[in-house]
Amino acid sequence: MNKPIAYDMLVIGSGPAGQKAAVEAARSGASVALIEKTRKLGGACVQRGTIPSKTLRENALRVRNMRMNAQLSNFKLAEDTELATLITRLNNVLNAHDEYMRKQLERTKVNLIHGRARFLSPQDVEVESVRGEKQTYSSGHILIATGSHPRKPPDIPVDHEHLFDSDSILSMMYLPKSLTVLGGGVIASEYASIFQALGVSVTMIDKYPHPLGFLDNDLTQTFLNDFTQMGGTWKGNTKVTRCYWNGMDAVITECDNGTEVRSEKLLCAAGRVANVKELEIGNAGLELNDRGLIDVDDQLETQVRGIYAAGDVIGPPSLASASMEQGRRAACNSLEITSGLVHSVIPAGIYSIPELSSVGISETHAREKFGDVFVGIARFDEIARGQISGALNGMLKIVCDTDGKTILGIMIVGEGATELIHIGQMALINNSPVDIFVETVFNFPTLAEAYRAAALEIIHQRKSKASRIKAGF
Ligand SMILES: Cc1cc2nc3c(=O)[nH]c(=O)nc-3n(C[C@H](O)[C@H](O)[C@H](O)COP(=O)(O)OP(=O)(O)OC[C@H]3O[C@@H](n4cnc5c(N)ncnc54)[C@H](O)[C@@H]3O)c2cc1C
Repeated sequence: MNKPIAYDMLVIGSGPAGQKAAVEAARSGASVALIEKTRKLGGACVQRGTIPSKTLRENALRVRNMRMNAQLSNFKLAEDTELATLITRLNNVLNAHDEYMRKQLERTKVNLIHGRARFLSPQDVEVESVRGEKQTYSSGHILIATGSHPRKPPDIPVDHEHLFDSDSILSMMYLPKSLTVLGGGVIASEYASIFQALGVSVTMIDKYPHPLGFLDNDLTQTFLNDFTQMGGTWKGNTKVTRCYWNGMDAVITECDNGTEVRSEKLLCAAGRVANVKELEIGNAGLELNDRGLIDVDDQLETQVRGIYAAGDVIGPPSLASASMEQGRRAACNSLEITSGLVHSVIPAGIYSIPELSSVGISETHAREKFGDVFVGIARFDEIARGQISGALNGMLKIVCDTDGKTILGIMIVGEGATELIHIGQMALINNSPVDIFVETVFNFPTLAEAYRAAALEIIHQRKSKASRIKAGF
């Protein structure tokens, strides 16, 4: 082993978790090395996930709006539209992000090391450069933030030419005429609705009856109504038995109910797997749990003292937003810097068309756990702003405890859902009673007014329950 170079902290992976950890540690005065194997910084979030898919979504929304206003513009996408033209701004966004991150690392004096990391011992990490040169780095504080890659089901022959996964889907040259999407999770729902909005004929296939099963059915049904109104097809309760490129013109997907779906391309969105293979974590005394993830305690420390882990490598919620905060906290905990209160209330944002977002627990979950909970619903078509802006297909739901006071969860589907959710998140974090939404004056006309309408429904239900009890019913 060559002579190790020592740092106060080593961070492996430059995604949201690693980047925020490195910057936080360096700001506290620690000497920090950030190890990244790819040429570009930012991980799946910047290069293949969040930012690329959301950039495409912006353009899909524009295309959809132009099509909806067809009588004004008679808009039609050209045949064989190149995908690159639909994500024209992507390179600008990515380059700007890369430059910003590099400058931030330089400013905070984080040493960026380009190479593939693997553990030699609990304190030693070897980094192999693209030219095959090896150097060892050592530290008593190491953060694993190596992220995840798409799960490859053994029977789906992903070739990145006709059958894609969520990392390669945007490498398609042309917008296909038809696309089969396997899966009903977040990434599947986002890409299925984005491509459908672009005019691709999309068929989503999943073994569960509804997509996005962690949300209540009324929300996912609103999503499905919009998706099918755009022309998409949902095949729930359906198992794929075989899937192949026919060598000529189509991907054939055979299902257990005897149906066969033909499409030009296929996206397999069957979840993600932690990036740990190359790390050889066994050399550090670490092992994976039965879900293939690294276990951490509430300080984000692994079972080996001094080694922390954050982001997708530790599993759900597997969001860029949560990964950033986990990375920052892991660095603080490791270096014993005060990091502030931990809030377990994390919103989930699903950037499908329409958007969905939730915070706290669902109505289904609340009923299972507490019984007769209070639920208030406001539909966007009952809100002035919904009518004005044509954002009619949406709803906001508040779930309260059995007294109808304490907020347990909020779920929104429709325009602005991923932004609107933060109002509810703040109420939840501050333990505000649902009445806060009625006692507060919101701007008019806004979609945020839906909070007031849903809260009023709960307050009315609460009052009528109280009078029923008083009257002895
Ligand atoms: C299509 C898609 C859409 C998404 N949309 C959203 C969204 O809208 N909102 C949201 O919050 N989240 C979204 N996500 C999730 C988000 O991208 C991830 O949760 C986030 O990127 C995880 O961050 P991370 O730092 O854990 O890992 P990553 O971002 O995966 O970064 C890990 C880094 O580690 C590097 N690495 C791995 N192994 C090694 C090694 N041995 N040596 C050196 N370097 C290594 C990798 O090259 C990579 O750069 C989306 C994901 C996908 C795939």
